[in-house]
Amino acid sequence: MIKIYNTLTRKKEEFKPITPGQVKIYVCGPTVYNYIHIGNARSFIAFDTIRRYFEYRGYAVDFVTNFTDVDDKIIRAAKEAAITPEALADRFIEAYFEDTKALNIEPATLNPRVMDHIPDIIEFIQDLIDKGFAYEASGDVYYRTRKFPDYGKLSDQSIDELEVGASQRTGTEQAIKEDPLDFALWKSAKEGEISWEAPWGAGRPGWHIECSVMATKHLGETIDIHGGGQDLEFPHHENEIAQSEAKTGKTFANYWMHNGYVTIGDDNEKMSKSLGNFITAHELIQQVDPQVIRFLMATTQYRRPIRYSETVLQEAAVNLQRLHTAKENATFRLAQASSTLATDEADLATLLVLEERFVAEMDDDFNCANGITVVYELAKWLNTYSEREAVSEAVLTSALEKFAAWLQVFGIVFAAAGYLDEEVDQLIAERNQARKDKNFARSDEIRDLLKEQGIILEDTPQGTRWRREA
Ligand SMILES: [Zn+2]
Repeated sequence: MIKIYNTLTRKKEEFKPITPGQVKIYVCGPTVYNYIHIGNARSFIAFDTIRRYFEYRGYAVDFVTNFTDVDDKIIRAAKEAAITPEALADRFIEAYFEDTKALNIEPATLNPRVMDHIPDIIEFIQDLIDKGFAYEASGDVYYRTRKFPDYGKLSDQSIDELEVGASQRTGTEQAIKEDPLDFALWKSAKEGEISWEAPWGAGRPGWHIECSVMATKHLGETIDIHGGGQDLEFPHHENEIAQSEAKTGKTFANYWMHNGYVTIGDDNEKMSKSLGNFITAHELIQQVDPQVIRFLMATTQYRRPIRYSETVLQEAAVNLQRLHTAKENATFRLAQASSTLATDEADLATLLVLEERFVAEMDDDFNCANGITVVYELAKWLNTYSEREAVSEAVLTSALEKFAAWLQVFGIVFAAAGYLDEEVDQLIAERNQARKDKNFARSDEIRDLLKEQGIILEDTPQGTRWRREA
């Protein structure tokens, strides 16, 4: 039974899906005006790990995450780059896919974009106006916050407390609103800015409305889980609830999950200059093995803050290496498992106990920090077992399968061991035959296959030579 800390109730609750065996998750995606920063990367890795664990537990996961491609920051950056906001968004959406791939984040079921949903957004806003939850003012449309009785339920604030804070704000927007708490659903077009026609005049959507529209459109009026960074809890997610529930009269999301922050450097360590420069994940993965970043972020419980520093990175690299070594040891031993123990029940039982513990830790609000501890224990067990004089193939195979499946939950996949020399010679012979037969597709395929394993071929008049990449 999976338990989830629900921000809405401030309690751990048993997860009950709307449809048995299925999970519908919506996670707020990036504003694509730049490369994703490490805080974004943490959020996407956290929810990717959660998604993978659901899959490990047999659920079918529908995972939707949006791209905010209409926004002040995008308009400003596009102007600076002298390109359209659309072209700028395209550029950073492409970069998003490259960077998240490097971090082994599974592609979402769907990545809806705001620009593709303008008619849906206009329709949604019109419905809120018709229901009395929104009003037009000088070409803008605002949400009538006080009309929604549950406003503040997610961030646990009373409407009067919020009113005090909001009333201190000033500006033209404040002057045209009915109430300082009201927030924009539609912003009238400014000179030279991208805009779309709407019943209230040309303009563009406010930020909060897109997630209500895209989540309900693609996942349904009630979804299982809505996720995002802690910084989105208020006002973004509070506003998403107000918009969605006012429109549908139904609960928007049954579980609200928020991941912790990333801070840079630790108290005892002088901030290194190189670290200070790595604000985007894009730059970071050029310098640090993406698998180490993934491991560090995936093995921290998602609600905890991550203090990102060289020390924690080094620790993560060492731990990852230990796990890799354990896998290599066991794989090597399995290859030479000539003798088989008569009975292996006791060892299989040990593995089963470890598996139960792994599941119990992860079921407890995706406690990855405790979950990875069980993986370390399995690694230790694999090392010890691999040194036994007689081993059981069934036990080793089962242990390696569990090991790989658990690491997969954290997004870690160790590449298969490289080719042995004789295997390389064999493939080269096959390639030479293919070339003789003018089967160049096959000969290129073999070259690429070897290249993936770091083996470089060199065709000389005397024949094909090969070497391993340094
Ligand atoms: Zn959102």
